[in-house]
Amino acid sequence: MPIKIDLHVHTYHSADCSAGLEEIIAHSRRRGLDGIAITDHDTVEGALKFLEIDCDGLIIIPGIEVSTVAGHILGINITSPIPAGLPVEETVRRIHDAGGIAVAAHPSAVYKKGIGINEEIASQGIDAVEGINSSVFPFFLLTYLSRRLASRTGLPQIGGSDSHTPETVGLAYTIIENVGKDAEVEEIINAIKEGRCIPHGRPFPWRVRIRRLYGD
Ligand SMILES: [Zn+2]
Ligand SMILES: [Zn+2]
Repeated sequence: MPIKIDLHVHTYHSADCSAGLEEIIAHSRRRGLDGIAITDHDTVEGALKFLEIDCDGLIIIPGIEVSTVAGHILGINITSPIPAGLPVEETVRRIHDAGGIAVAAHPSAVYKKGIGINEEIASQGIDAVEGINSSVFPFFLLTYLSRRLASRTGLPQIGGSDSHTPETVGLAYTIIENVGKDAEVEEIINAIKEGRCIPHGRPFPWRVRIRRLYGD
């Protein structure tokens, strides 16, 4: 039985993000998600808060989005902070030491900082690539590029919405195969490492992009 998880969600612990915990949980349920990974910029505070509250049966994977010198890396299954500003290889090592997996976030993004994806990056210990990210623009071109480059490396691909508002949670997600709705986080992490994951998703609607541009 596959499950559906949005592996890239921000809370109000990220700058210019107003998403509160209860709203995120309600929208996740409405979108039919089985779980979410909380990945705020350079902090695990948001993720840790979710672990303390009733999440209506939703699987919560704590995480972080680390700003490395080369671009953003998701640390999935992380409960201790990873410092910003380090090289990719060092960041990946620290994520692994903390028990997480390292994912190249929006690797081909134009308006965001991605680390790119090639053999050299793949050789630095990255576990997976975010093949689909709802917030990148232009969405279809960059998704095509990210997925093609990722498939050349043979790395597993995941999907996440990169939501900074609750209404966009679940626009992109990852189908994790052969795990149940009561799966432990470790099982999900192992499934991703083994490539038992398929990214799905669509772009943010225009009204969300315009609102973000004007800071409303
Ligand atoms: Zn990012
Ligand atoms: Zn993000």
